[in-house]
Amino acid sequence: MSQNQRPRVGVLGAGQLALMLAQAGAEMGVDVICAGSPMDCAGRVAPLVAVDLNDAGAVAAFAAQVDLVTMESENIDAAVLHGLNLYPNANAVGIAQERLLEKRFFQQCGIGVAPYAPVDSAGDLDAAMAVTGLPAILKTRRMGYDGKGQVRLFNSNDAAAAWDEVGGVPCILEGMVRFDAEVSLIAARNRSGEIVFYPLIENTHRAGILRRSVAPFVRAGLQAQAETYVRGVLERLEYVGVLAVEFFVQGETLLANEMAPRVHNSGHWTIEGAETSQFANHLRAVLDRELGSTASRPTVMLNCIGVMPPEAETALFPKVARHDYGKPARAGRKVGHLTMAATETAAVQYWQRRLEELQQVSFSKERSAGEGS
Ligand code: AMP
Repeated sequence: MSQNQRPRVGVLGAGQLALMLAQAGAEMGVDVICAGSPMDCAGRVAPLVAVDLNDAGAVAAFAAQVDLVTMESENIDAAVLHGLNLYPNANAVGIAQERLLEKRFFQQCGIGVAPYAPVDSAGDLDAAMAVTGLPAILKTRRMGYDGKGQVRLFNSNDAAAAWDEVGGVPCILEGMVRFDAEVSLIAARNRSGEIVFYPLIENTHRAGILRRSVAPFVRAGLQAQAETYVRGVLERLEYVGVLAVEFFVQGETLLANEMAPRVHNSGHWTIEGAETSQFANHLRAVLDRELGSTASRPTVMLNCIGVMPPEAETALFPKVARHDYGKPARAGRKVGHLTMAATETAAVQYWQRRLEELQQVSFSKERSAGEGS
């Protein structure tokens, strides 16, 4: 890259995370070019190259057109990633995309996790249940997101059906944690080793899908504990870029659930709520620029699942930021999000209720349309 040229960052994947990276890039004078399917939503705001992300040759050809490559999804085979000028590195991504490696890695870093045991066959389940106790969750080791590839076990008689339901692929069984809260810590590390942290974020899920993130989550000692843990993870992995680590809070203890080697849904609030968004800091990190301030104000982010609220309705709330990813409505799909200051309590209450209602209305319509056809 010559000095006068704008940097060209390639993103593997072209969904909403790539879209918001491209928007941040446009503000910073960085060209973000996405690789994915022609209809993916990032194509609305950025050049999109049609690339089969399972095809190592096609991905390498895409990487040759840009200065460096990053990713918006960890579910790309690590074999495709090796040898690319990739940030974060393929080793870090390989650990984050395999739940058993990830759990062992957290333990090596001195971070507590839920009791777990590997399950490679139906026959392993009895021994695994003896380790985890019940209730427990059977999770596929790979390709899990938004609660997909997970089955809950409440009784030892559920084991055979659970194994069938996950399709008999390598899994882990995890003891169900009784948590006070679910939180995430988002950090960025640049190529020179500088690290910044955002405040802890409290996350609420339903049916395995993130519904609401509220920042900051404040409980004595936990921000420092989380930062120490995540610093250890970043340094051991020689990690570059934004990393999100999700934890269960039990009293004064954090148990790591999983990590995402990319910008994260629980950090979308940083676009309006922090001095530098997670997207801008990810680009700064991979380009080895100085990282931006993470100073922030209390903020709430609500996901729009399945369907966006009408524009005329969000317009009634001028202080609510509306992000529409431009995706077709579909049950269970993240199609956009709303962000508001936590002090806008009337708006927070209205939109929490309203987004749930809109989902139910559109899903029941979908169901009756299905019944009629
Ligand atoms: P995951 O894909 O692992 O993030 O799981 C999705 C959601 O399921 C989490 O955000 C939790 O709400 C719930 N969950 C996953 N693992 C556990 C566990 N071991 N104990 C209790 N809840 C869990």
